[in-house]
Amino acid sequence: MRGLAKVERSSGAMEFVERQKPEPGAGEVLVEVDYAGLCGSDAGIYEFESAFERMELPTVIGHEYAGRVVEVGDGVTEFGVGDRVVERPIRGCGECYQCRIGEENVCQDAVITGVDHDGAYERFIAVPERALHPIPDDVEQRHAAVAEPTSIAARAVIENSRVGAGDRVLVEGPGPIGLLTAQVAAAQGGTVVVSGVGQDADYRLPLAEELGFETVNVADDDTEARRERHTDGVGYDVVFDTTGHPSGLTTAVDEVRKGGQIVLVGQTGETSMPYSPLVRAEIDLQCSYASMYEDFERSFRLIRDGDVDCETFVDTRFSLLEADEAFETFIEGGTCKPVFDISELA
Ligand SMILES: [Zn+2]
Ligand SMILES: [Zn+2]
Repeated sequence: MRGLAKVERSSGAMEFVERQKPEPGAGEVLVEVDYAGLCGSDAGIYEFESAFERMELPTVIGHEYAGRVVEVGDGVTEFGVGDRVVERPIRGCGECYQCRIGEENVCQDAVITGVDHDGAYERFIAVPERALHPIPDDVEQRHAAVAEPTSIAARAVIENSRVGAGDRVLVEGPGPIGLLTAQVAAAQGGTVVVSGVGQDADYRLPLAEELGFETVNVADDDTEARRERHTDGVGYDVVFDTTGHPSGLTTAVDEVRKGGQIVLVGQTGETSMPYSPLVRAEIDLQCSYASMYEDFERSFRLIRDGDVDCETFVDTRFSLLEADEAFETFIEGGTCKPVFDISELA
């Protein structure tokens, strides 16, 4: 079987490689992958950002996917052939202090599917059953492929933010995590505005509007006037920074109200700014990282109930057989959440 792998330590450099169909070991199941999404971190691997220098190459990428169990290894008790599943792709070691106290999302020694071992951009993948999550009957397979990023947003909003009914919320960054965060924040009762930059004007901000959000293009709009209008000059109760850019945090400081909260979801990188104004305004600076079992449970319910509108959100225009086109378009902001039909690899 062939899988789409990162093959060289440079930008681009994705190729199909031949792989043996894996045998499920003890405690593992063999999953046939139906659909797999393209995530910001997959684009980070494509561009070979420094966070991925630890990768051994070639590695088949892809970690957001939905499939079916086709074979079970020895000792598997929870899953059987035919079960529809997604994987929780960030696997805690189960032994460090954080894993022992139920914080496996910040495990000291986590491994990530599609980064530290072969991922889901291939037809079959062997997965420990403890990393699998069943797909509820009333969630369709293509939509289940976005359960993983939805779980990240569910954690950011429900677990780590104070967004409640009537709150004024700004989500910075209309990428996949941003637009999922916006949808979950709206489900929590927040009034949500989504902001983007110039390159988001063609696809991502219009998609945010289609999903029901007012949008701001910080490249063109008078953001101060917008803030004045949206929040009566007070500032937003909660600002989520999903941009993954240093300016996301400094802008969030301008946008949040005194006494409000900033939730960092994207990986900001390095920035410097005066912190005293944050202290004097008693700003709650909260981080959110990855997701856990409970966040996946919530993710499926949000998808099932239509709080997350997968039909509008998922972009089906791309094929993994022409992956460069999907990656380049993603990086230029011309798509938000491509989901590939992996059966094309058969
Ligand atoms: Zn992802
Ligand atoms: Zn651990």
